[in-house]
Amino acid sequence: MKPEQPSRAGWGGGADAYLMAIYVLFREEPPERVVSARVAEYLGVSPVSVSRALTRLLHGGDLERKVPWLKLTASGWRRAEVLLRHHHLAERWLTDELGLNWALAHQEAERIGQAFSPQVAEALWQRLGRPQRCPHGSPIPGTGAANTVAVALSGVDAGTYVVDRVLEQVEGFTELLTRLQSAGLMPGKQVEVARHQPTEEVSVRSARPPGPWTILEPWLARRVLVRAHYGRGDQLALPESVHGTA
Ligand SMILES: [Zn+2]
Repeated sequence: MKPEQPSRAGWGGGADAYLMAIYVLFREEPPERVVSARVAEYLGVSPVSVSRALTRLLHGGDLERKVPWLKLTASGWRRAEVLLRHHHLAERWLTDELGLNWALAHQEAERIGQAFSPQVAEALWQRLGRPQRCPHGSPIPGTGAANTVAVALSGVDAGTYVVDRVLEQVEGFTELLTRLQSAGLMPGKQVEVARHQPTEEVSVRSARPPGPWTILEPWLARRVLVRAHYGRGDQLALPESVHGTA
């Protein structure tokens, strides 16, 4: 049987990887779901490794005590923002300046971003034209960017939409990003969506020019966010359940 979620090569094994994982999960999921089992699943590590890392974060003052879910302290949050900022800037540099493949940029940036000092990150941000989002659409912390109101592909009616972002949780899977890229599912691109009732699978294709249809399984369809497309008089409203994922 096919697993619901693919396995992921981790974000490195250091405490910083856990800090970033908690930050990303907090940004992308309801707080009560950000628990140690979810972090283990996200990073593809054992519960024992998570519990050791969480103890380190707790002792380092990065994690709040006595909260039912994993909540970063103000200093933990700030530290995670810097790490994510460096990671996203490395991604932008790799894609924008070096022309590296969109799917590979995340993986390569995992190592490169760790080497940046705040001065290098600032200089790179200026050099790249002050980008607000990573190549996969996530807001870059510290740039004033916020998540836009967008909804998962799994929750929209058939119609035309604009891809807003691919959740950070997908970025560790190079083969999934490659599939999304060949289906034209990249931020800013127009896509056409068809529904497979009653399953959660979604058929999607590039709208301009029309490309071949790709079927996205539910796990992936829940992690690609789109926003309404307004153009040429056609106004396609998102369903009632639309909510921001900030
Ligand atoms: Zn990214």
